[in-house]
Amino acid sequence: CSIQDMNAEVVDSNPYSRLMALQKMGIVDNYERIREFSVAIVGIGGVGSVATEVLTRCGIGHLLLYDYDTVELANMNRLFFRPKQAGLTKTDAAVQTLSDINPDVVLESYTLNITTVRGFETFMSSLRNKSFCSSKDGCGVDLVLSCVDNYEARMVVNQACNELNQTWMESGVSENAVSGHIQLLIPGKTACFACAPPLVVASGIDAHTLKREGVCAASLPTTMTTRWELLPGLLVQNTLKYLLKFGHVTPYLGYNALKDYFPTMEMKPNPQCSNSACLERQKEYALAKPARDAAAKAK
Ligand code: ATP
Repeated sequence: CSIQDMNAEVVDSNPYSRLMALQKMGIVDNYERIREFSVAIVGIGGVGSVATEVLTRCGIGHLLLYDYDTVELANMNRLFFRPKQAGLTKTDAAVQTLSDINPDVVLESYTLNITTVRGFETFMSSLRNKSFCSSKDGCGVDLVLSCVDNYEARMVVNQACNELNQTWMESGVSENAVSGHIQLLIPGKTACFACAPPLVVASGIDAHTLKREGVCAASLPTTMTTRWELLPGLLVQNTLKYLLKFGHVTPYLGYNALKDYFPTMEMKPNPQCSNSACLERQKEYALAKPARDAAAKAK
């Protein structure tokens, strides 16, 4: 930066104009569009809370937050929540903090368990809400981010997104917190969560047996870097690329801290998937191929 650039930054305290640097550098065509987008984040724990904060600082338009849990003093070794928020629901505490950071972001707090019948219904209707529409891409949320820590909740996000034909991103950290991944799921186009279940589930292993007696993974230094810094960073970067249409949106990006290894791959949908909504979306996607080909040719 030149002195003039730095002075311009000091004088110009509008956070959006600084973020517009991405546009000035030619990386994004229209950064301003960020304010039109709505993102739903399920699970406001280690990954989800940090992702909400970064999206808020980026100037996202609308965030919908889902979690059933409350803030405990034991959560204080994590980033984001503060001791005086102990006892508040995680979603209400997040709304409090995020609205202080950027009052322009519209925030909705849903304290619920998405795996219950009522929770699922509320989850579905909130995703369909027609009160937010990004101008070109229709109404409802633009993206769902799954930041939960269990298989059942992931399967429920998968079910909702398959039924609503809703694109989403999944994130996960291994039990020992030395590896993690993010994955983009587009109903009908990519594998859904049920098309390729995690190895532990496919092998019939009870995930609870993977926990080591007397070891709290939340207090490992590796958890800090993987769950609270790296993964939310990768997830938000992919979210920005997807929403603002720049760079390569990764279909799957893994991270293995022990091997410095970042595997990436594409997963096609499974024609024998056990999820009927996924099979419907696969059929629709196949039927729409001629239209996609014609549009690609016209470009
Ligand atoms: P830790 O597991 O390290 O103690 P945590 O409880 O914050 O931390 P994370 O794995 O960091 O857990 O975050 C997952 C979040 O997802 C939690 O806040 C949890 O309450 C939330 N979550 C899990 N299942 C559901 C569900 N079915 N409905 C709503 N929220 C859920």
